[in-house]
Amino acid sequence: MKFENYARPQSFEEALKLLKEEKSSRIVGGSTFLRLSKKPVKLAIDLIDLNLDYIKETDDEIFIGAYTSLYDLETNPIIKNNFGDLFEKALKHIVGVQFRNVATIGGSVYGRYGFSDVITALAVLDCKVDLIEHGLMDFNQFILEGKYKDIIKQIIIKKNNPKTSYQMLRKSDADFPTLTCAVSKTDSIKIVIGSRPKTALHALKTEEFLIDKELNEENIMQAAKLVKEELDFGDDIRSSQAYKEQVVQVLVKRALMEVK
Ligand SMILES: Cc1cc2nc3c(=O)[nH]c(=O)nc-3n(C[C@H](O)[C@H](O)[C@H](O)COP(=O)(O)OP(=O)(O)OC[C@H]3O[C@@H](n4cnc5c(N)ncnc54)[C@H](O)[C@@H]3O)c2cc1C
Repeated sequence: MKFENYARPQSFEEALKLLKEEKSSRIVGGSTFLRLSKKPVKLAIDLIDLNLDYIKETDDEIFIGAYTSLYDLETNPIIKNNFGDLFEKALKHIVGVQFRNVATIGGSVYGRYGFSDVITALAVLDCKVDLIEHGLMDFNQFILEGKYKDIIKQIIIKKNNPKTSYQMLRKSDADFPTLTCAVSKTDSIKIVIGSRPKTALHALKTEEFLIDKELNEENIMQAAKLVKEELDFGDDIRSSQAYKEQVVQVLVKRALMEVK
């Protein structure tokens, strides 16, 4: 990774102006993924002076600044009180603690990586992305619609007291996941599968099937089968499509058992 120039803007307006001015400019998060690229970056824009490292709450919502590290998200008491061990389970296998102390939530969401544990976990919550230019956007819409040349200021999550479960399969600790699965239960059930290997997606038909249904063994088995049928899976270097189609049913069953 090579930065030709480096800027520390003092306001969001200045940061956005710099980002728009130069085509190959990049916002710098923890720089953990950026550094893998061989392409030189004309201008690296560091938001360090804009105070984006925070997790705070009001009665209804939780606000997570874009520069919050994955390790803070994993260990923060506000997050634990509201979402149980969802983030701890989702994040604790990502490389190592030193890495997670550097990687940020902003970089993880903006990157929209198919393998992302971070995105799988956030996608089952009632969640918004707060962007400097585009304003508030539904989290799943942001993930699906593609990259905006914009700056993530914070992630906002509604406090609606969900029961949650995070399941995944990886070949070894710290490897990328072979498959990820998050489930949340409030009045309704949300199911998100990632590392298919494409970006995490809701199993919408299965979510609809489960409306007003008791989570008994029969319905859970049926739901697991439905998830396999409605989502598309593919081969990657970790496993074949056929293997992912078997594993997803096990992960969904485990997750639904946990939230019932
Ligand atoms: C070796 C390795 C293994 C990994 N394994 C996993 C894993 O198993 N599971 C998992 O979920 N993740 C994994 N990751 C991804 C990791 O968790 C981070 O999500 C990722 O590295 C990006 O975080 P960062 O803060 O370093 O972003 P950066 O590398 O700084 O930035 C990533 C992208 O986001 C942009 N960006 C950063 N911040 C903002 C912002 N506020 N607004 C707009 N754009 C922004 C950058 O310009 C860049 O395009 C892995 C990464 C690496 C390098």
